[in-house]
Amino acid sequence: MIELRTPTQIEQMRPAGRFVASVISALAEKAAVGVNLLELDELAHRMIKDAGAESCYIDYHPSFGASPFGKVLCTSVNDAVLHGLPHDYTLADGDLLSVDFAASIDGWVSDSALSVTVGTPDPKDQRLIDTAQQALDAGIAQARGGNRLGDISAAIGDVARAADLSVNLQFGGHGVGRTMHGEPHVPNDGRAGRGLKLKPGLVIAIEPWFLHTTDEIVFDPDGWTIRSADGSRGAHVEHTIAITDGDPIVLTARG
Ligand code: MG
Repeated sequence: MIELRTPTQIEQMRPAGRFVASVISALAEKAAVGVNLLELDELAHRMIKDAGAESCYIDYHPSFGASPFGKVLCTSVNDAVLHGLPHDYTLADGDLLSVDFAASIDGWVSDSALSVTVGTPDPKDQRLIDTAQQALDAGIAQARGGNRLGDISAAIGDVARAADLSVNLQFGGHGVGRTMHGEPHVPNDGRAGRGLKLKPGLVIAIEPWFLHTTDEIVFDPDGWTIRSADGSRGAHVEHTIAITDGDPIVLTARG
């Protein structure tokens, strides 16, 4: 079921959005050569506690997961791109790190992701991240009342194609509200002018993610971490946005 939020409810969603944005900023600042992924998870955990927020991940156990997630953050490094389970790994020079974080405050969820390079970036990785960011911006620009869901998807896919990237359609964006994953699914490619008509009050996470040279993925034995099938690196960016009568509100915008 697709739920629409009232303007008052969207105001109530802002604290979670601001909090999730602050955690993503803190993680991006902390990510450096010599920092362990478990330290990043601990930082997010501490911020959740200090803010009186609730993690969306720690007890998360969908059908594809081998067991409850057990951490508050996804950390995906290099050829890992989605759902990376934080583990004992120390970031090294040239790594590409994607963090994905969702939490709720007062019962409202926000969800955001960001890729960063660690130490000296490989220019190819920086270009991949920049392309994902352009795709996110293009998707958000289409998130307007009266447009259709396919307009968002097509805008993302067009940016990918222009950069010679192929798009995986298994995982994409989603409705956000009282829970982390609701309807509608927001694919990272599609046909403009098709699909659900966008109405004010629809709150969705838009989350393009791309791999350098493939759109095929494989799961780690942990049941969570998703990697490229060919070992090429991936980038992932995400914002939770609310559709209004005018410009969309980017709830997880970083200051
Ligand atoms: Mg997310």
